[in-house]
Amino acid sequence: MAIDLRSDTVTRPSQGMRDAMASAPVGDDVYGDDPTVNSLEERVAALFGKEAGLFAPTGSLANQLAIRSLVSPGDELIAETNSHIVRAELGAAAVFSGITTRTWPAKNGLLKASDALDIARPNSGPYLVSTTAIAVENTHNFGGGTVQPLDEIKALRVGADALGLALHLDGARIWNAHVASGVSFAEYGKYFDTISVCLSKGLGAPIGSIMLSTKERVVASRVWRKRYGAGMRQVGILAGAAHYALDHNIERLAEDHRRAKALAIALAKIDSTLVDPALVETNIVGLDLSSYAVTASEVAALAKEKGLWVSALGPKYLRLVTHLDFDDAQCEEAISILTHIFTSLK
Ligand SMILES: *Cc1c(COP(=O)(O)O)cnc(C)c1O
Repeated sequence: MAIDLRSDTVTRPSQGMRDAMASAPVGDDVYGDDPTVNSLEERVAALFGKEAGLFAPTGSLANQLAIRSLVSPGDELIAETNSHIVRAELGAAAVFSGITTRTWPAKNGLLKASDALDIARPNSGPYLVSTTAIAVENTHNFGGGTVQPLDEIKALRVGADALGLALHLDGARIWNAHVASGVSFAEYGKYFDTISVCLSKGLGAPIGSIMLSTKERVVASRVWRKRYGAGMRQVGILAGAAHYALDHNIERLAEDHRRAKALAIALAKIDSTLVDPALVETNIVGLDLSSYAVTASEVAALAKEKGLWVSALGPKYLRLVTHLDFDDAQCEEAISILTHIFTSLK
């Protein structure tokens, strides 16, 4: 079978997870009657120190529900240039909520509070767009799984308070940030008005995200979730998978991080311009092919021929993501395939 490092979304539910799904008590969640969904929402909200949570089928929807609760139509959300909300949600903020975005660029997506605060323009009057919220992605996906420094998050909160701005955390991979940094979920939760977390990435659930905030915002978001067509019924079957993921799959993310580091170290040995292993903090390895004549998609095609799937996310940018279904033997095999390819290209 192919080794699939395109994303941490490619994992398949384990037997244990499937058993948890099969035995989950369910009810109609549109009526608020699904006990497994209710307990999941309460559990994740408590974990992050928030009043309430809302189960959503995707992280994009959880992000969109959150930001629409913070930003009025015609106002502005600011975010890093390569953030998921800006680049990978297909303009949803504009299409669904009339939210405009403006961005600041950051190397590897690494947060510096002053980068965001410098471009924020709250209460801009009748002539310029007013900023009302700032989004932070932790870990930063296209930045290469970058863990955001707690000091910068704190500084951003202080600055945002001074300007009257709200903060949203796109925490699709906050689990990875927690395991890499040792910072608790409650600590991360303290600094943000709204949070989205994904259960379908490193945690290995087949589907599911949670939007977290105050009771008031979550009640309002429930209405919007239904309006968007994502009011779901006996969805405790999916929440059961999420409970199982929270029970079993958080601390083991350290293994994904260890294998990502091993990949980076092996590749840097072949050519140090490909990747700096010191920057590989979590489960994402970004490869820079700018010193090669070939494109990222050509390398991805070569790797695929040998049974290794990777993502070409830019003309010269390849992404490898480690996950639950990638073990040490596959890691050795992946290193051997990539070593072969890059040695022959040099
Ligand atoms: C995957 C991801 C999301 C959500 O993606 P969906 O495919 O909609 O579940 C949001 N933010 C980041 C940073 C992600 O990597």
